Amino acid sequence: PNVVNKIAAGEIIVAPVHALKELMENAVDAGATSLEIVVKDGGLKLLQITDNGCGIEKDDLAILCERFTTSKLQKFEDLQSIATYGFRGEALASISHIAHLSVTTKTKSSTVAWRAYYESGKLSPPKPGQSSDPKPVAGRQGTQITVEDLFYNIPTRRRAFRSVSDEYNKIIDMVGRYAVHCAHVAFSCKKQGESSTSIAIQSHATRSERVRQIHGGSVASELLEFSTSDARWHFTAEGLLSNANYSAKKTILLLFINHRCVESSNIRKSIEHTYSSFLPKGGHPFVYLSLQIDPERVDVNVHPTKREVNFLNEDEIIQAICEHIRSKLAAVDT
Ligand code: ADP
Ligand code: MG
Repeated sequence: PNVVNKIAAGEIIVAPVHALKELMENAVDAGATSLEIVVKDGGLKLLQITDNGCGIEKDDLAILCERFTTSKLQKFEDLQSIATYGFRGEALASISHIAHLSVTTKTKSSTVAWRAYYESGKLSPPKPGQSSDPKPVAGRQGTQITVEDLFYNIPTRRRAFRSVSDEYNKIIDMVGRYAVHCAHVAFSCKKQGESSTSIAIQSHATRSERVRQIHGGSVASELLEFSTSDARWHFTAEGLLSNANYSAKKTILLLFINHRCVESSNIRKSIEHTYSSFLPKGGHPFVYLSLQIDPERVDVNVHPTKREVNFLNEDEIIQAICEHIRSKLAAVDT
């Protein structure tokens, strides 16, 4: 069964950025207002994320990395509303099958922090011969997850990564997306051993200030805020749009559906089409779009690495959003 688990995990986590995305979502779900990320070798050697969220109870540590361990399902109906979150209770389990995972965590009521090591879904001793029980350590409230040697037991996968800097760039891109979306959370991301950070966003930075820090001043100075909704199609949408004075070489679309970063080629194409009548030929927009849809109407592809999302009344919702974008752009144009 461990071989099966390992293969399944390797399909869910194809690159370090996929593990990091899950860990960031967990930290945000835990109510963290600060996420500190440290990376070595594009995340293949080390991915470490430290949050100041609610922490994990000591008693929950033993089963933390078993499949389907989740504190986020209260009742059966929730199974429906979790649709947007993709798979549930599988991220930490998956990571523990293809990396060395350790967790240091402290809840508000606990007097100490607890550290635990995992291997293939179970608590494991930090060194051979030692106890696998969680150990008390000093620490602040929150959780630190350390993922080392990702894919150490899938050598073919490991060898397939030719450039650690490509993997690091994917990580920076994903951290930047969440940093724009989670506008009350501080984010930092850096390479291990380096003092300079690749991303450093303070908790009080506004969303457009975050865009300025991550994507530069020329886009940030041209942003339009928008928000629209339609009860018929059970959605609300809000975000930031570049106007016709700004034009990029490639479309930058930061798309969140129910607070998860996803891809939708239909939304991307329609937004590009909408902008095409406002931008010079070959020009592309910057769009941050946060869409909330009744979760029962969202269908996440079962394959978690394909972040393509489908939802009911997709055509109507996309059309409504693009109509709104068109009117915003037209209002500036005249
Ligand atoms: P899921 O997020 O789908 O519940 P995960 O495998 O990602 O599944 O996490 C399992 C559980 O571990 C979560 O439900 C949560 O209770 C706990 N957990 C994981 N990461 C954190 C964190 N950073 N802070 C607090 N609790 C966490
Ligand atoms: Mg999770």
